[in-house]
Amino acid sequence: MSEPGKGLIFDIQRYSIHDGPGIRTLVFLKGCPLRCQWCCNPESQRFAPEVEFRSSLCQQCGRCLTVCPRDAINRDLAVVNGAKIDKSLCDVCGLCAESCPTGTLRVVGRWRTVEEVLAEVLRDAAFYRRSGGGVTLSGGEPLAQAAFAGELLKACYLQNVGTAVETSGLVGWPVFERILPHTELFLYDLKHLDPDEHERLTGVSNRLILENAQRLVAAGARLVPRVPLIPPLNTSPENLAATADFVASLGLKEVHLMPFHQLGKDKYRRLGRDYQLGEARGLRDTPEGGALLRLARTAFARRGIEVHIGG
Ligand code: SF4
Ligand code: SF4
Repeated sequence: MSEPGKGLIFDIQRYSIHDGPGIRTLVFLKGCPLRCQWCCNPESQRFAPEVEFRSSLCQQCGRCLTVCPRDAINRDLAVVNGAKIDKSLCDVCGLCAESCPTGTLRVVGRWRTVEEVLAEVLRDAAFYRRSGGGVTLSGGEPLAQAAFAGELLKACYLQNVGTAVETSGLVGWPVFERILPHTELFLYDLKHLDPDEHERLTGVSNRLILENAQRLVAAGARLVPRVPLIPPLNTSPENLAATADFVASLGLKEVHLMPFHQLGKDKYRRLGRDYQLGEARGLRDTPEGGALLRLARTAFARRGIEVHIGG
C-alpha cells in the first residue's frame, strides 16, 4: 500500500562517481515492472517494503522471536535465509529488525517525503558544484513512482542540483514529458533489441522502451544508452549489431556497456528468493569474457559510437 505524498526508497548512496557525471548521490526507488533474469538488485523489485535476513550474522539470541506480534519468525533459530520468516504472516512492522542486535534482520524500503530526501541530497551540494555532479534516481524503476520522482527531480533542479535518471524506459510517455524540464540526463537501458527475446528475458516487450527512446531524443533530451552484457543471453553478434544500429539511428555518440557480474547473488538468498543465473560466471571472470567485450566494443565503435565500460 502506498503512502500519499511519499516515495518508497530502499537506499541512498552518497559520493558515487558512477551513474552520471561528477560526484553524485544515488537515490534508489523500490519497485520495478521488469523481472530481468540477471537483476543484481532483487530488493528493488517489489513495490512494498520487505524484511531481509542475513543468516551468517545471526547469533541465535532469540530476541526477534519474542518481539514478533504475528508469530512469523521460525522457532528454529538455526534456519537459514528464506526459512526465517513466514511471509504469509509477516506485515513488515519492523519490530524484529529494531530488536536485532547484529543487524541480521533489516527492513528494505521506507516511505519518505520529497523534503526528507532533498535534505539528504543537499548535504553534498558543495561537492556537486565543484565536480559537476548531482543526484541520480535509480531503482528498481524510479519512474514507476512517477509523481514522487517528478517532484523530487523538480525540487533538486530548482536547488541547482544536477539531475539524472536511470530508467528501463518502460513507462508511459506522459511520465517522461512531465520530468523532461527537470532532468538533465537519462541513463537508458537497452537489454535486447528483439521484442520476443526481451520479453523472455525480462517479462516485458521492448516496444514501448524503444519508442520512448526515440521520442526522448526527438524532444531534445540527453540520453546515454546502457547495454548490460549477459552472455549468452544478449551477446550474440546479431543482437550487438542490432543494438548498435539502433543507437546509431538515434544519432547518439556514446554508450555504456555493463559487464555481467555476480555481486547481487547473496541478496537473493537473504530475501529467500531463487536466482536464475546463480551458476553463471561474471563476464570478467571467464576466458572468453575479454573477447566478448572486444566484440561488443567493436560493434559500437565501427558506427562512430564512443564506448565506456561500466557506468
Ligand atoms: S517485520 Fe514484524 S511481523 Fe514481520 S517478522 Fe518482523 S516482527 Fe514479525
Ligand atoms: S534478533 Fe537477530 S541475532 Fe537474534 S536471533 Fe533474531 S535475527 Fe538472530
